[in-house]
Amino acid sequence: MDRVRPPREALRDLAPYDAKHVDAEVMLASNENPLNLPGELLDRLEELVVRIPYNRYPDPMATRLREEIAEANGLEPGNVLVGNGGDELIMDLVLAWGGPGRVVLDFPPTFVMYSIDAKATDSTLVQIPRKPDFSIDEDALMARLARGDVDLVFIANPNNPTGTLAPETLLIDVLNATDALVVVDEAYFEFSRHTMRPHMSRHANLAILRTFSKAFSLAALRAGYLLAHEDVIAELTKVRQPYSVNRFTQAAARLVFRERPVFEAAISQLLRNRDMLVHGLSEIEGVEVFSSEANFVLFRVEHASAVWRDLLKEHSVLVRDFSRTPGLEDCLRVSVGTEEEVRRFLAAMDEIMARRRASAHFGVAAQAARHDEG
Ligand SMILES: *Cc1c(COP(=O)(O)O)cnc(C)c1O
Repeated sequence: MDRVRPPREALRDLAPYDAKHVDAEVMLASNENPLNLPGELLDRLEELVVRIPYNRYPDPMATRLREEIAEANGLEPGNVLVGNGGDELIMDLVLAWGGPGRVVLDFPPTFVMYSIDAKATDSTLVQIPRKPDFSIDEDALMARLARGDVDLVFIANPNNPTGTLAPETLLIDVLNATDALVVVDEAYFEFSRHTMRPHMSRHANLAILRTFSKAFSLAALRAGYLLAHEDVIAELTKVRQPYSVNRFTQAAARLVFRERPVFEAAISQLLRNRDMLVHGLSEIEGVEVFSSEANFVLFRVEHASAVWRDLLKEHSVLVRDFSRTPGLEDCLRVSVGTEEEVRRFLAAMDEIMARRRASAHFGVAAQAARHDEG
């Protein structure tokens, strides 16, 4: 055959997730921990590598990791599901609670995988745009829930890419107002230090998503976990890929989880670096910076795409361009790096913005000169 029939209609308007995976000296585009695992953990991983039976399938449920996560959260193993990154768990949730004829709700601008997965599964996607300050439109949300047809709700908290934290009272109101499965995505929990965990016992419809990719320096290995009612977890096990979390990832995630106090100092340092980043950006003329409860900062600047390109091409600093996302016109997002990286980014921004101001003045001056001549 010299051709292939098209895939499902739903894919026609779907764009692939584009992480702009390019190399730069200063990588501030994906909200990763800027530091690799501590040396002592790398040493222990090295020992693990040669002891793995590579010919054997991994434990499908990552039982030991699951037990340790459950215990640390005061839950039973049946309340925990480990996935190949939080991304896989989001797809599992959409496969089980979304699908044709089912309604998935999210609050853009937000993490884009919710809508990609909803569209890919032919779910009905309902989006309630955030207000100009990026808070959730509570009136619109409550009105929508009152219709009673919502099946699955995704709330990133703090929200990516805006850094906004939803008030706990709002989240509780949502849990009371609907029997939809409400996923509170706490991918940045270790930075925000806010969690809905205490509300799990009263709300069977609350699921909490976490990841090893951000604070715990493990983005390369893909591990995330979901905390939820055991009946929710049981349903998800029907749609999940059985061997998605490989043996090495399970072992590494266990090691990191057990040793997680080791990361505390680095997390505190990153929070200080975030303050330096916010302060530095707010001092630059022409930049509007939004406050953040996570390890990234959103800011608005005229000609954002050109600034993004200058940062990369002239300074080898990679940030994320959101300027084509509705509601985020002229916005870029920068992850919190090491102190050195934050300084380099701020110096680059200073330079780029000073030059833009100068050429804008020059443009005006040149225009005035022509005017005078004429
Ligand atoms: C990074 C992120 C995730 C999941 O990342 P994984 O690497 O797949 O674990 C989930 N939700 C949000 C909001 C994120 O920013």
